[in-house]
Amino acid sequence: MSRYYLTTAIDYVNSRPHLGTAYEKVTADVIARYKRLAGFDVHFLMGNDEHSQNVYKKAVEEGLHNNPVGYCDRMEAEFTAVWKALHCSYDDFIRTTQPRHKAAVQKLAQAAHDAGDIYEGVYEGWYCVSCEAFKPDKDLVDGKCPVHPTLTPEWIREKNYFFRLSKYRDRLMKHFEAQPSFLEPEIRRNEILRLLDAGLEDISMSRAGQSWGVPLPFDPDSVVYVWFDALINYATAVGYGTDEARFATWWPADLHIIGKDITRFHTVVWPAMLWSAGIEVPRQVFGHGWLHYGGQRMSKSLGTSVDPMEAAAPKFAPDAGPDPIRLYLTKEITYGSDGDFTWERFEERYNVDLANNLGNLVSRVVSMADKYRGGRIAAAGDGGRLAGVAGEALARYRRSMDAFALHDGVAAAYGLVDATNGFIADSAPWKLAKDPANAARLDAVLFEAAEAVRVAAVLLQPVMPSSCAEILRRIGAPVTGDALRLDHAAWQSAGERATIPGPPMWPRSVPPGDLQLAGPAPEVKIQPAKEKSVDDKSPAAPVAEAAPAPPAGERIGIEDFLKVELKVAKVREASAMPKSKKLIRLLVDVGEPEPRTILAGIAEGYQPEQLVGKTIVIVANLKPRPMMGTESNGMVLAASGPGQPPILVAADDSLPPGTRVG
Ligand SMILES: [Zn+2]
Repeated sequence: MSRYYLTTAIDYVNSRPHLGTAYEKVTADVIARYKRLAGFDVHFLMGNDEHSQNVYKKAVEEGLHNNPVGYCDRMEAEFTAVWKALHCSYDDFIRTTQPRHKAAVQKLAQAAHDAGDIYEGVYEGWYCVSCEAFKPDKDLVDGKCPVHPTLTPEWIREKNYFFRLSKYRDRLMKHFEAQPSFLEPEIRRNEILRLLDAGLEDISMSRAGQSWGVPLPFDPDSVVYVWFDALINYATAVGYGTDEARFATWWPADLHIIGKDITRFHTVVWPAMLWSAGIEVPRQVFGHGWLHYGGQRMSKSLGTSVDPMEAAAPKFAPDAGPDPIRLYLTKEITYGSDGDFTWERFEERYNVDLANNLGNLVSRVVSMADKYRGGRIAAAGDGGRLAGVAGEALARYRRSMDAFALHDGVAAAYGLVDATNGFIADSAPWKLAKDPANAARLDAVLFEAAEAVRVAAVLLQPVMPSSCAEILRRIGAPVTGDALRLDHAAWQSAGERATIPGPPMWPRSVPPGDLQLAGPAPEVKIQPAKEKSVDDKSPAAPVAEAAPAPPAGERIGIEDFLKVELKVAKVREASAMPKSKKLIRLLVDVGEPEPRTILAGIAEGYQPEQLVGKTIVIVANLKPRPMMGTESNGMVLAASGPGQPPILVAADDSLPPGTRVG
């Protein structure tokens, strides 16, 4: 089996991770899970960067100056709790204070020293403590670090050991030319090429007069500079300095996932360090963009940070687990570019992508199988149109995921979900079920829909592992769990499926704003309804059926309004009612297993054929009511001025049937 070794950046532990930090880990986890699905033997590394002066300062602030590792222990527990809550499937979690890492750092520093690449000198210049980096004048803006404009950089003059980075410029340029995919996306590569063109200076690789860090093997009074130390973690974790056979098995790393701001360290400094020590360089580095919050850089001090624990159990769907935020971070942001998060947008995507779209599709397929076939879907031979769509989705998904276009991979899977929803609407299984002559066709439709859902769940598994396992279970997929492979995304025409019903996987959220409305009552007025006779002779027939209503002008509370369930519906069929001038008989799709019949008093405004395909709004939770020998199951919303024909309240066509309005 081919091996795949991927890593994330390791984090300073002077504060808890925010959603921007989590963005990197979640997307790396999606790649790790995709590689496992594709059949690789994956080693996925995450970890913490503890030899930072910021970390040491924080430990001192907390009264742990004698025991900074104790502070780091506590932070490790906090970090790993977050990563576990987000279902990050790392195989190893490294900490740079571990003995294995000290061995690796000393080995590599000694090797570079032996190669003549480390020399003693004096460093004098600006230092940003928050970046833990020396800042040449040209990198300062108004004398401040551009990343930390509230801090004043320190002027430092001390004995330092320098690493001969300048020596490796030509080799780096050749490497970038020979390996165009070494650094992606391309915009990041171009930045580094410009930097190499401008020439490289040697860099400091030690700090004097400090105890927090790994002592230099050739001068124990100095410690290795935190960045030089940190980069080596990728080699440590697979045995460098402690288990050379294991190191030979897993090195070079296949992929370093990092933020776009640290590409220079990873694609210039790190390869030079490795070459100096006679080690191969990693195959690929991917620099992702930043996640913003409402258009602003995510930062605790600015109050623009989001707690990933809260995102993994959002108020609007507390039981949904981390899959909704994993889907958001993967689907809504072009991987490699900056992205944005707001709670409002997160909730909106949850309702559209999960509650209304995928969740509704799963419920529909399972409940139709239950209702028409007692939960057993017979194999139906060669697939119809969805088999072709699924094949194309799989090809596009593979192409995209292999190129780290994660957003596009998810879009490919969602294309299949959309096509399946459309297929059900067009095939109308509820109609087929009425005539036993259509039994074979009904079997074929149910099987095809269930098989398409199965394929979509295989493709989405790296993004939403627990939800997809549940979908596969409910639709009776033969293979689930760790045994699942990308090969299983091929269309299967055989095998009866035993479906398992369950509650909605992603209940639609009730926007918290609606429940918390205070102050003036919302502008909802209910006109006193005229009692409408069943033979419908009264003029200006109200579209609404009669209901007890408060006197005109009286305000109602939001709790009354919330009792009314308004939903988006699509008109599938419309026909005139023989003995009525006002009523039209509608068959509408409300995202339920079967369409509903609703009698609507809109004949003075519409010809039946104008209505088919319209996206409208209905009151979905009215008690069924017999009218003119038919049962009307709901009510459409329409407006009409005095003496004017009624006009339907329309909804945007992009809203899937069943979307809640309110
Ligand atoms: Zn800085």
